[in-house]
Amino acid sequence: MKQFVFCNPTSLAEAVDLLGTEPAEAELLAGGMDLLGRLKKRIDTPKRAVNLKSIPRLATIGETPEGLSLGALVTLTDVAENPVLLVKYRAVAEAAKSVGSMQIRNAGTVGGNLCQRPRCWYFRHRNYVCLQKKGTTCFAEAGESRYHAILGGGPRYFADPLDLAPALIAFDAAVRVVGLKGERIVPLESLYWLPSSKLSMGLILEPGEILAEVRLPAPRSGTRSTYVKFKEKPSFDFSLAGVAAVLSFEGGKLAHARLALSGVAPVPWHAIEAEKALSGVKLEEPLGRQVADLVVKDNAPLADNNYKVALTRTLVRRTLFSLALTRTTP
Ligand SMILES: Cc1cc2nc3c(=O)[nH]c(=O)nc-3n(C[C@H](O)[C@H](O)[C@H](O)COP(=O)(O)OP(=O)(O)OC[C@H]3O[C@@H](n4cnc5c(N)ncnc54)[C@H](O)[C@@H]3O)c2cc1C
Repeated sequence: MKQFVFCNPTSLAEAVDLLGTEPAEAELLAGGMDLLGRLKKRIDTPKRAVNLKSIPRLATIGETPEGLSLGALVTLTDVAENPVLLVKYRAVAEAAKSVGSMQIRNAGTVGGNLCQRPRCWYFRHRNYVCLQKKGTTCFAEAGESRYHAILGGGPRYFADPLDLAPALIAFDAAVRVVGLKGERIVPLESLYWLPSSKLSMGLILEPGEILAEVRLPAPRSGTRSTYVKFKEKPSFDFSLAGVAAVLSFEGGKLAHARLALSGVAPVPWHAIEAEKALSGVKLEEPLGRQVADLVVKDNAPLADNNYKVALTRTLVRRTLFSLALTRTTP
């Protein structure tokens, strides 16, 4: 590991100053479950590691009149076990529970999960100077691509591994971001950019910005939600595809639907067209199949990942019907 200065700010303002405006100079450290691996492999070689854990009050979960607030340093274990999340925002708790192993969930944080870097094996290999590392080639395009994107890819094809983001997006979460110019509150979804629209790392924060808090609006009455993740290894693994569904029912019909996916695109994939098809209808076949087809309508798999199209289609259908058949409504 290349040496760096370990900084322990005591406020977000101090952390913002320490981050500075040169992205390569400093990295934020939360639970370290993603960052430490990258530092050890010298994928990143910052001069400063800015420790968020020395800042107080970033690890709280609080109910507000508008909904729920999650501090950036809340651990994934705390999200998975929180009674309010388990009842009102079940998909978020289930998504947190699905991340890695217990050790990773105990250390990993909400902010770190939402801001982790792509899991592409070319990006994570120090010898490949890929497009993501300011090189000229996305090696997945002509190389080993079985874990890569089937939707929204190009010119880079990594698939986002973030379990928490689709569940939070399906609940219309917003984030409070603090930076050199003050703070802004924006929809979480708007922070993720496709590689075709901006050569991004997935999540777009301005240099020096810190994700301080996630805000969840109160769910509508009659809302049920779930996050279903398909992974290759039965123990801990990243998602090949994950589906977050938030459905509100009124008189047996769907009044409101949100669907977002992990593992299929370079960003959390918000299936807007499929949501529209679910509005005001009774959830039964053949609608389930039609909605699943809509989710993967624009699929463009690479050489090795065609299997993900059928996998995603099936997962969407199963997720929708598992929710439709749930009897209890919180
Ligand atoms: C074996 C293994 C299995 C894993 N399995 C999964 C999985 O199944 N699903 C999954 O989603 N992830 C998985 N991960 C990835 C990762 O460990 C977790 O996502 C974890 O939540 C990251 O959180 P952290 O606090 O440890 O982040 P860190 O490693 O501390 O930070 C991650 C990145 O985010 C930045 N960052 C951290 N906090 C903030 C903030 N508040 N504002 C702005 N930037 C910030 C850091 O600078 C860094 O670049 C796995 C990792 C490993 C090693």
